[in-house]
Amino acid sequence: MERPGWSLSDFQIGKFIGEGKFGKVYLAREKQSGYVVALKVIYKTKLQKYRFHAHLRREIEIQHGLDHPNVLRLFAWFHDDQRVVLVLEYAARGELYKLLRSVGHFSERTAATYVASLAGALAYCHKKQVIHRDIKPENLLLDIEGRLKIADFGWAVRSNAKRHTLCGTIDYLAPEMVEKKAHDYAVDNWTLGILCYEFLYGSPPFEAEEQQDTLMRIVKVDLLFPKTRVISADAKDLICKLLVKDSSKRISLDDILKHPWIVKNAEPSGSCIEQKSIA
Ligand code: AMP
Repeated sequence: MERPGWSLSDFQIGKFIGEGKFGKVYLAREKQSGYVVALKVIYKTKLQKYRFHAHLRREIEIQHGLDHPNVLRLFAWFHDDQRVVLVLEYAARGELYKLLRSVGHFSERTAATYVASLAGALAYCHKKQVIHRDIKPENLLLDIEGRLKIADFGWAVRSNAKRHTLCGTIDYLAPEMVEKKAHDYAVDNWTLGILCYEFLYGSPPFEAEEQQDTLMRIVKVDLLFPKTRVISADAKDLICKLLVKDSSKRISLDDILKHPWIVKNAEPSGSCIEQKSIA
């Protein structure tokens, strides 16, 4: 899927979409097919500065091997002297994070739809022996129909074995990662619990002013459900079954999809458009 013959001149470059740590993202159209894509243009000097080659190679290898409706497609990549260019599926509604911040919190229907989409996509990734390890709202995009897409596989690993590195964003870290113990697929299930809470309440459950306090709250599973918002008992039940310290006792991804809250609330099409979600 590396396209050695390709260059930026094969694309009509459209609007600038956004900028990440390693490069810029543009809307583009492949001239021959007319296909609309997002191009992530990464400068090799930046890769060198941050010693990010290995991460990028891993992101490319992993993401290219995945084909699921809730995983952002990486169609191809090419490079020239200065740049590496990823040809990505275009997620027209942008970051889920921005939508969540603009509406404050989601309805149970929207939250359940996104949790079900994530559980399906993660089950698919896990079957392919990929652990994402950095699932957070910033890494979740929405397509034109409001369907969730997991993006950014820079932190993902292929794994059969348990792993030891500490990575990911602090609020979403599983207790076994905070305690630097071996961890496996179940870290993504924990993160799903954090996200489910954040979708419903607008902020992650173990948030604190000091990072150290967040880490302590995670390890103690200091979980509180604020009275400021009325959330169904079924939703809380699912969160409690995901945020379990013993990773082997967390509800499985397949069982999440059978949980009464998901069955009752999730849109089977996976497509969900909250007000104000047009980027
Ligand atoms: P990143 O470099 O991945 O952090 O992306 C920089 C910005 O571009 C962020 O605002 C992303 O939401 C946006 N972006 C990245 N990839 C896509 C895509 N495939 N479709 C739409 N927006 C994207």
